[in-house]
Amino acid sequence: MTLTPELTIDLAAIAANWRALDRLSGTAETAAVVKADAYGCGIAPVGRALAGAGARRFFVAVPAEGARLRAALGPGPEIYVLSGFPVAPAEAPPPPPPAHPEAGGAPPRADADADARVFAEAALRPVLNAPEQVAAWAARGPAALQLDSGMNRLGLEPSELAALRAAGGPGPEIALVSSHLACADTPAHPLNAVQLASFRGMAAALGRPLSLAATGGILLGADYHFDLVRPGIGLYGGLPFAAAQPVVRLALPILQVRDVAPGEAVGYGASWRAELPSRIATLSGGYADGLHRALSGRARGFLGGRACRFAGRVSMDLIGLDVTGVPAARPGAMVEILGPAQGVDALADAAGTIGYEILTSLGARYRRRYL
Ligand SMILES: *Cc1c(COP(=O)(O)O)cnc(C)c1O
Repeated sequence: MTLTPELTIDLAAIAANWRALDRLSGTAETAAVVKADAYGCGIAPVGRALAGAGARRFFVAVPAEGARLRAALGPGPEIYVLSGFPVAPAEAPPPPPPAHPEAGGAPPRADADADARVFAEAALRPVLNAPEQVAAWAARGPAALQLDSGMNRLGLEPSELAALRAAGGPGPEIALVSSHLACADTPAHPLNAVQLASFRGMAAALGRPLSLAATGGILLGADYHFDLVRPGIGLYGGLPFAAAQPVVRLALPILQVRDVAPGEAVGYGASWRAELPSRIATLSGGYADGLHRALSGRARGFLGGRACRFAGRVSMDLIGLDVTGVPAARPGAMVEILGPAQGVDALADAAGTIGYEILTSLGARYRRRYL
C-alpha cells in the first residue's frame, strides 16, 4: 500500500497539444512557454518532449528557469526570458543599516550581476521591457523587445518606442518584437481589437518578426498570429484551449477508512458533521501539495466510478472524503482528484481559481510518473 500521492504527466499529450496549436496557428511559428517549471509539469522532461515535437523557441519567466531548460535541451533552441534583463540601480544610495542584521542579503548590484551572468552562461535571450534594459543589454546578442499594447504590465510605451527610434534604435540585435494580450480568453472583449491595433501601429515600421498571441490569442484567429505564437496553458490541457488533450492525472491513496455516526465531526474546525451514518476515507495529500484549502467541502474525488465529496477542511497533508456506500473505499485504494472526470479547470472552479493556478501549485512531493 502506497502512502504517496501519484502525479502522472502525459508528455505525448503535451506534444499533441503543441502540434494542434501549431496547426491552428497557420504559417506562424509555434514556440512553447515553459515558465514556472512548465506550469508545474517539470521543465526538463516537458522541454525535451516539446523540442522532440518540433519547438525551437522557448519562453521562461526568470533566468534560473532558462538555465535549467538549457541544461535539459543543450545548445540550439532559443530560450527567451520574459522578465527582462537586469538593470543595475543607477545611483544606488548607500544602503541603510539593516533593521534586522540577521536577515543579511546581498546588495542589489551583486544580484543584478548574478542574473546577468546566467544569461551569458546559458545563452539566454532577454525580452527587453524598458529602454534602460535595451541599454543595459548593449547588444550582447539577439534579444526580443516587448511593447505595451494596453495591458500595462511589461514593455515599452509608445512614447518610449518613439524615443528609441529617434535615437536610431532598435538595433539589429532585436530579433523579435512582442506584446501580450490582457483579455484573449474572452474573445468578445473590446480590448483585444484595441491591443491588436496598438501593436500593429507600434510594430509595423520596425521590420522585425512579431509575436502577440499566447494560447488565447491563437484561438482569436489569424489576425492575431503574426510570425510567432507563444502558447503555454493550452500545451498543458487548460482552458481556453477546450480541445486540448488532458495532460495531468492526480491520484491520492486512502490511508484509513472509518465509520462516523450522525453528529460526529470530521477535520479541523469540525466544519463537517455527519447527518447520517457515514464512511469517511482519509486521503494522503493536502494544501501543501497544491490542493488548496479553498477546496474544502467543494471538490470531489473519484473512486470506482463514483464521485465522492470532500468532507471537512483540507489540511496540510490530508483530506477527508465522504465514501459512504462506496465499496471500493479501502486503505490503499487510489482516489482520482485530477483526470477525465475532474479536469484542471473543474478543480480550479471548485477552488475559485483558474487552471493555471492549479497546475503551478502542483506540489514537489508527489511520486511523478511521465508517460
Ligand atoms: C505566460 C505567458 C504566455 C503564455 O500564456 P498562456 O495563456 O499560458 O498561453 C505567453 N506570453 C507571455 C508574455 C506570458 O507571460
